[in-house]
Amino acid sequence: MSYQIAIDGPAGAGKSTVAKAVAKRLGYIYVDTGAMYRAMALHLLRQGVDTGDAAAVSAASRHADITISYADGVQQVLLNGENVTGLLRTEEVGNMASVSSANPDVRAKLVELQQALAARENVVMDGRDIGTCVLPQADVKVYLTASAACRAKRRYDELQAKGESCDLAAIEEDIRERDERDMTRAISPLCQAEDAVLVDSSDMTVEEVIEKIASLARK
Ligand code: C5P
Repeated sequence: MSYQIAIDGPAGAGKSTVAKAVAKRLGYIYVDTGAMYRAMALHLLRQGVDTGDAAAVSAASRHADITISYADGVQQVLLNGENVTGLLRTEEVGNMASVSSANPDVRAKLVELQQALAARENVVMDGRDIGTCVLPQADVKVYLTASAACRAKRRYDELQAKGESCDLAAIEEDIRERDERDMTRAISPLCQAEDAVLVDSSDMTVEEVIEKIASLARK
């Protein structure tokens, strides 16, 4: 049986940074499910699909062949055979993903892919519905969060370090909107699984969070 660690939480809580590090420490693969939703969003943006038209989103999603591979242990996302990994981490794609991920056909397709990966390999998988829906039998479940102000400040510092101009209040507003959408959608809303361990990283270092999660996994 594969060993499964599920990490859920809102945007900007540091899930991918810690999930990646925990996977490396344990020798597991890291599965970034947000990247799959982002690849689907990129497909829909390229097709010019109106997200308000659920039937159009469902129809277009059927033509998106999304697959995952690993290069030197780093997840690569292929969209219809094209490696789109480097195109996924923009605000435009993230916001589109947060809207299109509410579509049931989009979710069904990507959840199937995620479950197939976790059945084959020991995984650390992060997302919004991993502990509640994708891997309800996961060995370890973590709900990783931090205050919206703290998540916005981290994002702001990241952008500043890259030399990009940004506005802290606008980033916080964006984060709050994304949380609201992810937590209130009808299908698989973001919420803490009953058996998940709550980790609030607001006042923790990255290393402390990694240590905490690794300590929950089997020795
Ligand atoms: O985590 P990331 O910001 O890359 O995710 C992008 C969007 O994809 C999220 O805002 C969320 O709406 C969606 N998502 C989801 N379920 C997941 C992972 C991501 O709905 N398991």
